Amino acid sequence: MTALSLDRNMLDMRRGACPALSAPMMTGDGLLARVALTDAITPAQLAELCRLARRHGNGILDISARGNLQVRGLSETSAPLLDAEVRALNLPLRDGLAVETPPLAGIDGTEIADPRPLAEAIRQGAREIIGLAPKMSVVVDGGGRLRLSDLLADIRLVAVCADEGVRWMLLLGGTEATGRVFNVLRETEAVSATLAALRKLGEMGARARGRDLAAGLPANGAPGLPASPFGAFRVSDSLFAAGIGPTFGQTNAENLIALCGEAERLGIQSLKPAFDHSLLFFATQSACEALAAFAANNGFVTSPSDPRSAIAACSGSPACNSAAIATHELAARAAQDCGDLLDGSFKLHVTGCTKGCAHPEPSALALCGTAAGLSLITQGKAGDEPFASVAFADTNNSLRRIADLVRDERRAGENSAACLARLGPRRLAAAVMSGRP
Ligand code: SF4
Repeated sequence: MTALSLDRNMLDMRRGACPALSAPMMTGDGLLARVALTDAITPAQLAELCRLARRHGNGILDISARGNLQVRGLSETSAPLLDAEVRALNLPLRDGLAVETPPLAGIDGTEIADPRPLAEAIRQGAREIIGLAPKMSVVVDGGGRLRLSDLLADIRLVAVCADEGVRWMLLLGGTEATGRVFNVLRETEAVSATLAALRKLGEMGARARGRDLAAGLPANGAPGLPASPFGAFRVSDSLFAAGIGPTFGQTNAENLIALCGEAERLGIQSLKPAFDHSLLFFATQSACEALAAFAANNGFVTSPSDPRSAIAACSGSPACNSAAIATHELAARAAQDCGDLLDGSFKLHVTGCTKGCAHPEPSALALCGTAAGLSLITQGKAGDEPFASVAFADTNNSLRRIADLVRDERRAGENSAACLARLGPRRLAAAVMSGRP
């Protein structure tokens, strides 16, 4: 697709539409274009991207839950210009099918296997496959410190240690926990089985997804809580990383340019956008720690214990026309008032409407804006049946009552997610209603 092919199909706000660099999607604040990278870039290159976002868009950038950069507020005239100027930067842009690997793939001494050769073989093999859904994604996860377990994938290959050596578990649909186990295979078999599944999905049409091949297969089960990308940590003997993220995945170009400037000043030469709305900067321990301190002082999330990192909030009002609430304001207040509830065991989903862009999977607790106020949902998606509905004015009190209930009822060793699940919708509804006329 060319830069100028912004036909109406690309400009609608259909559910599931996937913004890409050359095919941006309409949102409440204009067109949104995605810059998906396959490798690290320099801080200077990210700063240049930010300048382009300021020149052609409204200067707001997202780092998505999957670790893609998104430029907001483009027009039909400026989107093709952004496309051309980003391409002229010669960045490692992803082309074709989304085949994702963990951000530390190939440099993480604790991974079971380097997933990059498999990912590349699948990317190459998939070039000739036509008819796939626009949002089709393959995850190849070699294990290690930072896993992609919580990302949805149509097809997922997960490295496992077997007596005979490394094998790859092929899962269909869902997250690593909810995906269905197709088989456990050798490396070459894993590539050909993945390509065969993609061919079958292509033949089934552009609406077919990985889960459509999974009927009757068993779910994999929970792999445990994946590690957070935030904070400064050791990657190998000589390499550290600093995981830094803008609040709720969104920032303005100036803030990001300042962060990149400081990274350059500290001699940092390499960074990758990563999952959970993060940026991983790679350097020495002292440079990573100094950059994390600078970022913390400038409002970025720099620690897994920061309650903001436990909230998935969509753009909300005023950025999105569909939003009934200012999600970021609400989420900031929740982080401030309910840090004890936000222990990292679940993502508090704060969404401006039932589409639930920020968290397509069910959440232990979701707050969804409606015309009348707010719906509260437990163990569900934004559009699922709420256990309570409250007026805007009652939002903070309601959330505080839930946090108080969890604090009082929490059993020894129990995290917030498990406690919320045990309490269930009736107890949560009773807590929300308590103290109300
Ligand atoms: S979930 Fe949020 S960002 Fe997505 S359409 Fe609704 S209000 Fe807009």
